[in-house]
Amino acid sequence: MTIPTVNLNFFSDPVPFYCPACGRKIYADEALQQPCQHVVFTGESLTGNWSWHTVPLNKRFKENMQRRYTESAAAQTYPSFTNYLANLHIDTAVAIACEIMISSSAFLLSITTSDRGCGGMCHGTLYLIIDFDPA
Ligand SMILES: [Zn+2]
Repeated sequence: MTIPTVNLNFFSDPVPFYCPACGRKIYADEALQQPCQHVVFTGESLTGNWSWHTVPLNKRFKENMQRRYTESAAAQTYPSFTNYLANLHIDTAVAIACEIMISSSAFLLSITTSDRGCGGMCHGTLYLIIDFDPA
């Protein structure tokens, strides 16, 4: 399936985005709105913040990260697992989130607005994993 890229004019406000499963507005006014049950993961490049919106997937992610921490040289670089997670780059968090999201009913969506330049939008990339059939 081809996912289209929509290019907006420079300094255009990002268009609202609606959940493709239930139609709830999940991105509007340049901010993530209250996510519906289909939005299971969100991340934002500018702040580097990411979070799971389901307890089982958050647990699976943390277990996967704990294994990576103990099996790699990260334990020598970071003083604790908590510190390792706190310094995890958003791109890595999203890549691992996609790896553990083993479901044919889910997909990753990214919405990118300018995060460079003077003035205008400063939201970088917003990442959403949307699951049409959340547990
Ligand atoms: Zn929804």
